[in-house]
Amino acid sequence: MKKIAIIGSTGSIGTQTLEVVRTNKDIQVTAISAGSNVELLIEQAKEFKPYIVGIWSEDKASLLREALSEFDIRIVTGMEGLLEIARMPESEILVTAIVGMIGIRPTIEAIKAGKDIALANKETLVTAGHIIMPLAKKKGVSILPVDSEHSAIFQCIHGEMNNKISRLLVTASGGPFRGKDRAYLENVTVEDALKHPNWAMGQKITIDSATLVNKGLEVIEAKWLFDIEPENIEVVVQPQSIIHSMVEFEDGSIKAQLGTPDMKLPIQYALYYPERRYLPGDRLDFSALSGIIIDTPDMDTFKGLSFAYRAIKTGGSMPTVFNAANEKAVALFLDRKIKFLQIYDIIDACMKAHSLIQNPTLDEILATEQWVYSYIEDYMA
Ligand code: NDP
Ligand code: MG
Repeated sequence: MKKIAIIGSTGSIGTQTLEVVRTNKDIQVTAISAGSNVELLIEQAKEFKPYIVGIWSEDKASLLREALSEFDIRIVTGMEGLLEIARMPESEILVTAIVGMIGIRPTIEAIKAGKDIALANKETLVTAGHIIMPLAKKKGVSILPVDSEHSAIFQCIHGEMNNKISRLLVTASGGPFRGKDRAYLENVTVEDALKHPNWAMGQKITIDSATLVNKGLEVIEAKWLFDIEPENIEVVVQPQSIIHSMVEFEDGSIKAQLGTPDMKLPIQYALYYPERRYLPGDRLDFSALSGIIIDTPDMDTFKGLSFAYRAIKTGGSMPTVFNAANEKAVALFLDRKIKFLQIYDIIDACMKAHSLIQNPTLDEILATEQWVYSYIEDYMA
C-alpha cells in the first residue's frame, strides 16, 4: 500500500491524482486539503476516508466538521494544518498540488519528516530550490516531478546513471497566442487567454502558458531538479504537446518522451517510480499525425521566458520576485484590473526595483514575496 497525503486535492492536479488513486487499488490517501472548495472536499473525504482533512479558512472549517461528524477524521486549518499534513506519520509521499508560494513551507516540513515529494507546485523550487534540493539530499528523500516536462526528463535519464547531460530541451506548446504579435496581444481578453490548445489546467497556470511565464518557471525548476546550468536548458516549441521534453547527452544522442497530453501519466509515474503501471486512456496514433511540428519560442513578444532566464542568471531572491510579481499580476489580469501585456510590465518593474538578496533564507524569500505585493500595490495606485 502506498500512502499519500495531498495538499490542493480539489484542483486540477489534485483531482487527477485522486483519479489515479481510483484506478489503482493500492494507494491509501492519508490526508487531503483545499483552499475554500468545501463541497468537493467533503465528497472527497467521504470517498477516500483520510485521517486528516485540511481547509485554509477557519470560517469554512465548521461546515466540514458538521458534514464529516460521523467519520473519524481530524479537521485542520491554515498553515499549521498544512504543516501537520506534511509531517503526519501515516504518509510516505506528499503530493504538492497546491498553487502558489504557500506550498513552500509544507514541502520543507515534509522533507524534514523524511517524506518523498511528488512535486507539482512550481513555486517551491523556483523560489527555494537552493534550500529544498540540499535538504532533500541530506534527508535522503526523492523529489519526484509531476510536471509533464520534468517527468519527461526524469523518464529520459532513468537508467543513465552518471552519464553526462549536455542539454535539456524543454518543450512548450506555445499557448493560445503562438505566432501572434504585440499588436494582437494588446487587447486579448481573459477568456481568450484561458483557451489552452492542449491541456486543461487551473486558471493561473493556463494564463502562465499564454505569457510563457510557465515555461520560464519550468526552466528554473529544471535547473534545480537536474542540476543543469540555465545556458544548457533550451526551450523548443512543440505545439501538439506530444513530445513532453528531451535530453541530450554528451555523445550527441537525444532521448525524448512522447505520449498523448494526459497529466495522469506523470502523476502516476511519480507515485510509483520507478515502476510503470497500466494507465487507461488514448495512445499516440502516429498514422493520424501529418508530422511533428517544432518551432522556436518568440522570446521578444512572450517575455515570460526572457524574464525567467534573467531571474535565474541573477539568482538569489530574483526568481522569487519574478514568481511573486507574476502571481499577483495574473490575479489582477483574471480580475480584469489590468490588460494582458501589463503582466509583463509589472514583472519587469518589480525585477528592476528589487534589491537583490544573495542566498535568501526561507524568511527572506517570504519577505521578498511581501515586498513584491506591496510594491505592486503602490505601482497600481
Ligand atoms: P488549481 O488552481 O486547479 O488547484 C489549486 C489547488 O490548491 C486547489 O485544490 C486549491 O483549493 C488549493 N489551494 C489554493 N489555495 C490554498 C490554500 N490557501 N490552502 C490550501 N489549499 C489551497 O491548480 P493546478 O492543479 O492547475 O496547479 C497546482 C500546482 O501544480 C501549481 O503550482 C501549478 O503550477 C502546478 N502544475 C499544474 C499542472 C496542471 O496540469 N494543472 C501541470 C504542472 C504543474 P480550492 O479548490 O479550494 O481553491
Ligand atoms: Mg508543464
